[in-house]
Amino acid sequence: MKIPNGHEVIQLFEQFAPKELAMEGDKIGLLVGSLNQPVKNVLVALDVVENVVDEAIDKDAQLIISHHPLIYHPLKTIRTEESYGRIISKLLKHDIAVYAAHTNLDVTFGGVNDLLAEKLGLQETEVLVPTYEMPLKKLVVYAPQESADNIREALGNAGAGFIGNYSHCTFSSQGTGRFLPGENTNPYIGSIGELEAVAEERVETIFPQNLERKVLKAMLQVHPYEEPAYDIYPLDMKGQVYGLGRIGYLSKEVTLEEFAAFVKEALDVTGVRVVGNLSDTIKRVAILGGDGGKYYKTAIRKGADVFITGDMYYHTAIDAKLDGLHIIDPGHNVEKVMKRGVAKKMTELCREKKFQVNFIPSLVHTDPFLFL
Ligand SMILES: [Zn+2]
Repeated sequence: MKIPNGHEVIQLFEQFAPKELAMEGDKIGLLVGSLNQPVKNVLVALDVVENVVDEAIDKDAQLIISHHPLIYHPLKTIRTEESYGRIISKLLKHDIAVYAAHTNLDVTFGGVNDLLAEKLGLQETEVLVPTYEMPLKKLVVYAPQESADNIREALGNAGAGFIGNYSHCTFSSQGTGRFLPGENTNPYIGSIGELEAVAEERVETIFPQNLERKVLKAMLQVHPYEEPAYDIYPLDMKGQVYGLGRIGYLSKEVTLEEFAAFVKEALDVTGVRVVGNLSDTIKRVAILGGDGGKYYKTAIRKGADVFITGDMYYHTAIDAKLDGLHIIDPGHNVEKVMKRGVAKKMTELCREKKFQVNFIPSLVHTDPFLFL
């Protein structure tokens, strides 16, 4: 086991929630501090408020991974008698870095929206609002024939060669590789200054762009050559569709009233606002964590009986009601589900990497609203 530095932790995190999934202009990534230091404890929080910083100090965290960016609008001043100045000063004094994963964490599989859909037990879940299609790339690598199997296996294990539900898809052809080892080389086959001809295989496969680093590393680790020859091509085809919100089915039809009570309990809130006739029946459910009112028409188009989202505006609720869509607003704070969800996911990823680091879900309740 090794204690990783911040870069190593975030590299793993970004395999889970790649930055390219974020909406344009979102303030994600490292916001405060540095990732150069060793990280033993990571606090996972929804909001970085002062209590959360105190908790991070208390728990000896070197890094906070938060969902909502601490600095969303550019700061004009950092004055320590004001709230944000005080928070930033405390973080810097205690060498605590803050990294935000906002819409990329909403969108990614296993992120905020999947965690919410899971809490509601939704089945046959799909993306509600598509926002991104992962670009695909092609890798072609040339290797001596006896190494080709190892390379195909390493590529497949790293996640290359997925087509539908088929994994480890590759195509190989045989040919002759020629090279002339120059001064200061240490060739696996052949000798310095002599043109060599070797029976080689050309192995080709595709991979999603976000796995490029992982796939290349896996290939280079098993390739026997000092200077492996390979090409990477961008492709016009697109891969996996990502997006905001999820839509799926309940295991059985329930009334809106029953469902609202269930949502309240499942998402652990003390109140929900409900739009619609309480005796109407609900089977198909759309959910979008955070502020999702503007997507209500998408929920209707995709056949939702009810749309669950936070921060619902009065006029949007009027319009949705006129269009016959039921709404449950459990508040924005239900995104707190990410605290345990991210901690669990990162614990698994770090265990595989043999990184010794604790992920601690923040216990601070950051919802500014009380229901009376
Ligand atoms: Zn949010």
